[in-house]
Amino acid sequence: MPTLPSAQGVVASIGYAAGPLHLLGRQQAAYAPSGDPLTEAARLQAAIGKARDQVAVLMGTAEADSAAILEFQVAMLEDESLSEPAIASIGAGADAAAAWFAALDEQIAGYDAADDDYFRARGADLRDIRDRVLRSLAGGGDDAIPSGSIVCAPDLTPTQFLSADWSAGGGIALLQGSAASHVAMLARARGVPMLVGLGALDAANDDFVQLDAEAGQLTVLPDTEARHEFLRASTAHLQAINFARAHLHQPAVTSDGAPVAVSVNIAAPSDVDQIDVSTCDGVGLMRTEFLYGDGLPDEETQVAAYSRVLAWAGDKPVIIRTVDAGGDKPVPGFTVAETNPFLGLRGIRLCLAYPEIFRVQIRALLRAAVHGNLRVMLPMVSLASEFAAATALFEDEAQKLHAAGIAYKLPPLGIMVEVPAVAIAPQAFSDVAFFSIGSNDLTQYVMAAARDNGAVAALHDVRHPAVLILIGNVVRFAQQHGIPISLCGDAGGDPHAIPDLLAAGLRSLSVAPAQLAMAKATIARTSLT
Ligand code: PEP
Ligand code: MG
Repeated sequence: MPTLPSAQGVVASIGYAAGPLHLLGRQQAAYAPSGDPLTEAARLQAAIGKARDQVAVLMGTAEADSAAILEFQVAMLEDESLSEPAIASIGAGADAAAAWFAALDEQIAGYDAADDDYFRARGADLRDIRDRVLRSLAGGGDDAIPSGSIVCAPDLTPTQFLSADWSAGGGIALLQGSAASHVAMLARARGVPMLVGLGALDAANDDFVQLDAEAGQLTVLPDTEARHEFLRASTAHLQAINFARAHLHQPAVTSDGAPVAVSVNIAAPSDVDQIDVSTCDGVGLMRTEFLYGDGLPDEETQVAAYSRVLAWAGDKPVIIRTVDAGGDKPVPGFTVAETNPFLGLRGIRLCLAYPEIFRVQIRALLRAAVHGNLRVMLPMVSLASEFAAATALFEDEAQKLHAAGIAYKLPPLGIMVEVPAVAIAPQAFSDVAFFSIGSNDLTQYVMAAARDNGAVAALHDVRHPAVLILIGNVVRFAQQHGIPISLCGDAGGDPHAIPDLLAAGLRSLSVAPAQLAMAKATIARTSLT
């Protein structure tokens, strides 16, 4: 196959990087079996222990977003049932590496075949564990990613990412992968440029490459002209970042003077520790799914989490969304197995199907509301009757708290606009306190393109006229009825999408904290006239 001068992929984390290509996994050492089953079993146990220690060290330095992934891996490595089939094969004559590979592969195949994204992600974690133990058996350390290199592999695991030192730059070029993977999330949080879905790349280790994770291009052995163009584009990107930083502490105003509210999207309450409250207009979306990571959280845990964010925000509004379980966010003991979870029992549908579980969160929200300026948002609403049913549950729980003499406040209740039916016919929702457009789901449902599938990433485009027409439609309805409307999907922080969203009439956006400065700067550059 000839060397491809460049390959086109999908941007998973914006930025630019240039350096030597590191083809991950090509340098792996071979395992030399001893021929003695007892020695093989002991070697395998030692390699598992070493892998466990390596992941535990990583966990010590990890931030909240990655600690949960690593915690799962440590638990798996400590679970003896993981190695039992391999030990049995060693007893039957297999060497440690072959036995471990076969045992893990069988489990991985089971996870890979699952319909559920959650289980497929667990498959990736197991693959990570498998390879780490194999490297350790072969006597090699990690196949370390050299600092400053552009790492290329079919896919990358979270621990491979976390083991690398990204402080000297570098980037990630994946032949497969998905922009919605754990690694993509980590790369965005750390500002490491990353492309996914490059397909084939016939390049050699240490070839000089340029990664343009704005245009989505990886160029191998660039000529002088390509190098100059890369320098120009990456310098312009750096200037844009510096320009953005200068805007962080200023209110967001378009170049022709229209003010725009910019709030932040958060998940864990600790997310607010990194944000200066004066730089934003409150919390436009607090996702509460993280509380349900290990099963159903009790009322007190939830009151504490919500109150902490409300106290941080002071009198600024905080929109907390009731749990949006289901779809790509399964919750053990709550969500159900479905053939098509994105079109199934998720969000408000699931909560109304299990009101006793929903009531625990409702009570926690009512009690936390006394600590600040709380608004509550319902996800995945399609029908006015769902909004009415949820409202009745809030009123019922409020009455019970009142009767019990427990302090509470009934917060304004609004809905997410993420089901096309609501954006097409918002007339049924003239009694909601506010709307917030969930452009991630709205786009996937309008375009029939799953938000977590790299193969259809180009279709998942908020700027498609069909999506923008729907956004404009619901914005007009909200303005005519005096209902506040915002947008809290990822598009709100996307510099390419912001001008279109403002043109559609939006004057309030909620963005990831890391995108706050860039969103404000983009607004400042946008003219509405
Ligand atoms: C959305 O769908 O745009 C949204 C903000 O919700 P989530 O991404 O949590 O589904
Ligand atoms: Mg959504």
